[in-house]
Amino acid sequence: MGMFIHIDVDQTKLTSSQTKSLINICPVDIFILDNNIIGTDSNQEDECTLCELCLDNSPKGAVAINKSYSDEQLTSHANHK
Ligand code: SF4
Repeated sequence: MGMFIHIDVDQTKLTSSQTKSLINICPVDIFILDNNIIGTDSNQEDECTLCELCLDNSPKGAVAINKSYSDEQLTSHANHK
């Protein structure tokens, strides 16, 4: 968990191609794959630029960015079929 940012990802809400694109889309490599399970690199979470690319490209409930310093939460919202 980062000091300022904590990111939750729920793989059950992602197709395998959405999982792959999450790994590739983040400019600071926060999402990592370990034995086909997606997670986050806790050492990298505070590098999040809040670009929202991961949120724009993942279905509702799949990704949540929690800002520890403001109690604000940003959530994914793409309308994937
Ligand atoms: S908001 Fe941008 S930098 Fe932060 S986790 Fe998502 S893709 Fe990565």
